[in-house]
Amino acid sequence: QAKKLGKAKYEVFDPKMYVQAVRRLELESELRQAILQQQLILHYQPIFCINSLELVGFEALVRWQHPQRGIIPSDEFIPLAEETGLIVPLGNWVLYEACRQLKSWQDKFPAAQSLSVGVNVAGKQLYSSDFLDTVDSIMAQTQVDAGYLKLEITESMLIKNTERVIEVLAKIRQRNIQLCIDDFGTGYSSLSYLPKFPVNILKIDRSFIIAIDNGKQNYEVVQAVVTLAKALNMKVVAEGIETEAQLNNLQSLAVPLGQGFLFSKPLTVELAQEMIVAQSSVISN
Ligand code: C2E
Ligand code: MG
Ligand code: MG
Ligand code: MG
Repeated sequence: QAKKLGKAKYEVFDPKMYVQAVRRLELESELRQAILQQQLILHYQPIFCINSLELVGFEALVRWQHPQRGIIPSDEFIPLAEETGLIVPLGNWVLYEACRQLKSWQDKFPAAQSLSVGVNVAGKQLYSSDFLDTVDSIMAQTQVDAGYLKLEITESMLIKNTERVIEVLAKIRQRNIQLCIDDFGTGYSSLSYLPKFPVNILKIDRSFIIAIDNGKQNYEVVQAVVTLAKALNMKVVAEGIETEAQLNNLQSLAVPLGQGFLFSKPLTVELAQEMIVAQSSVISN
């Protein structure tokens, strides 16, 4: 008995676990500071019309400019932000900043007037009782036209609290804000649920786009998604296009929009702006 207890005690004080827990607490308090001290920045990945290769907008992706560790990619702190609830203030800042930036581009560059911006929204944000108020106040503050804002949610967020989620999503659509299902095809949502959600864009996950080069059946899966989207009156965006072959296949499938490293990685504000300017010279010449 004593031996058993002793062992359990030892496990509680496993130094490795202790170090990990301390590291997490440090990271959490650093992230809290990062939000306050404006160490977060947005990068913008361009989204193109697959046929005309015209720029149609950007997806805003958050980065952490850490004073010691340099730029930290979202994968390395978004999960922690989600677990700790910090995702709510963080996500609200992202929404504000993306809207502010789009409006400023639209005011500055004629070619930016019809560009849209996509913003990722986490479950905790969508479920929070003041989400709609936050959206409204950000729209009012930044004066961005609702039609140019796209909120990206994932399938897994649709499975929880279905009735309430449908209500909130419907209210978002009533404001003419667009709604995307991000990483479509990777969640567990049953297809029969899809028509119930007032969502108007499907973003096909990168894993399907990668697979498209490897055989007829994968091509047909993407074709089926495109058909489904059409039937439900939804637009389609292909994520993670990396090769010419993928692009050709998506063109022949009549997928209208796409993003990926073949076109461009997520860009700093300055580089995104250069891309807008380059497009305007194409348009005016
Ligand atoms: P996501 O929303 O699906 O964003 C697309 C991710 O795929 C981005 O990674 C982007 O850099 C990457 N990507 C784009 N094209 C390609 C490609 O051709 N090949 C490959 N291999 N990757 C490509 P990133 O920026 O690291 O973001 C990862 C995820 O973190 C995002 O996935 C999103 O779920 C989350 N995230 C990023 N910013 C935010 C945010 O502001 N709020 C929330 N809640 N989540 C965010
Ligand atoms: Mg996204
Ligand atoms: Mg995605
Ligand atoms: Mg993805």
